[in-house]
Amino acid sequence: MRALVAAVEATSVRVRTDTLVETLVVDDARRVVGVVAKIDGAIRHLSARRGVILTAGGFINNKAMVERYAPLLRKCRFRAASDGDDGRGIRMGMGAGGAAIRMDVGCIVLPFTVPKGLLRGIFVNRRGQRFVNEDAYQTVVGERALLGENGEVFLILDDAIFERPFPPTELAAVEDTIADLERALGCPPESLQHTVAYYNAHAGKTEALKAIHYIAIARERLANKMSKEGNFEEAKKLRDGARELVAKELLPHLGNPANEQVEVLIQQLVTMMVDADMHRIENGSLA
Ligand SMILES: Cc1cc2nc3c(=O)[nH]c(=O)nc-3n(C[C@H](O)[C@H](O)[C@H](O)COP(=O)(O)OP(=O)(O)OC[C@H]3O[C@@H](n4cnc5c(N)ncnc54)[C@H](O)[C@@H]3O)c2cc1C
Repeated sequence: MRALVAAVEATSVRVRTDTLVETLVVDDARRVVGVVAKIDGAIRHLSARRGVILTAGGFINNKAMVERYAPLLRKCRFRAASDGDDGRGIRMGMGAGGAAIRMDVGCIVLPFTVPKGLLRGIFVNRRGQRFVNEDAYQTVVGERALLGENGEVFLILDDAIFERPFPPTELAAVEDTIADLERALGCPPESLQHTVAYYNAHAGKTEALKAIHYIAIARERLANKMSKEGNFEEAKKLRDGARELVAKELLPHLGNPANEQVEVLIQQLVTMMVDADMHRIENGSLA
C-alpha cells in the first residue's frame, strides 16, 4: 500500500478523501461533464475536463440490487465489504447510459480453513456426495457449494479432527455412526456411507502418490541439468525413468475423485514434461 500511495503522491493528481459523489452531471448531449459531491457536509459541483472514471466498488450492501441482479448471493450469511459497496457507482454509470455486465457474479467464500485441521474432513452435499477437494481455495469451495449445491453442504468430521470452526458454524448433526449421520442429515440411504468408505479407501494412497510425483520431478530436473552439461546418455535414462514412473504409477489414478489433489499435481507434472520436450525439439536437442 505504501508503494501505491508513494506512486500517487509522485504525480500531480489531487486526492480528496471523505468525499461522497452523489451523482454525475451530464450535458444536453448526454456527455458526462462532472459530478455532484458532498465534501465536509457541503454539496459541491466538480467539473471534469476529460471524463469521469467510476471505481466505487460493488453492491453487496444494497439489498434491492442483490435481490434484482444476484439473488443467489442472498443465501450467504455474512457480507464482507466496505460500507461504500452500495452500488451507487454502478447505478450512476447506468444512469448515464452505461451497460453493466456480470452483475450476478460475487466472490463467494466458504472459509473452513480455521482451524486448518478441519480440511481433513469431507465436504458433502445433500445427496451425501463429496463435491469438492476440501483444501481447494476458499472461493472455489464457496462457489461450488452455492452455485452447484444450492448452498446445502456439510463438512463431515470425526472426533479425532473435530475443532470449533471460525467463524462459528452450526452443527447440523452429531451421531455415533455414519449411517445415523446420513439419516440425520437427510441424505439418501447408503449415500454418505458409500462416500466415506470410498474416500477412506483411497485417501491413504494420496501421500504415496505425492511422493512419486516429487521423485518424477526430481528426475526430470536432474535430466535437464545433465543435458545442459552435455551428459546426454545419462540424461535420457533419467528422463525415460521419470516418464515410466508417471505412466505406470500416476496416470492410472487420474479421474479418481478421492485424489483430486494429486490429480492437479499429475496434470502439472505432465505439462512440465511436455513443455520440456517441446523446448528440446525447438532447440534441436532431443537427447
Ligand atoms: C474481506 C475481504 C478480503 C478480500 N481478499 C482479497 C484477496 O485476498 N485478494 C483479492 O484479489 N481480492 C480480495 N478481496 C476483494 C477486493 O478487495 C476487491 O475485489 C477490490 O477491492 C475491489 O476494488 P474496487 O476498486 O472495485 O472497489 P473498492 O476497493 O471497494 O473501492 C471502492 C471505493 O470507492 C468508494 N466509494 C464508493 N461509493 C462512493 C461514492 N459515491 N463517492 C466516492 N467514493 C465512493 C469506497 O468507499 C471505496 O473506497 C477481498 C475483499 C474482502 C471484502
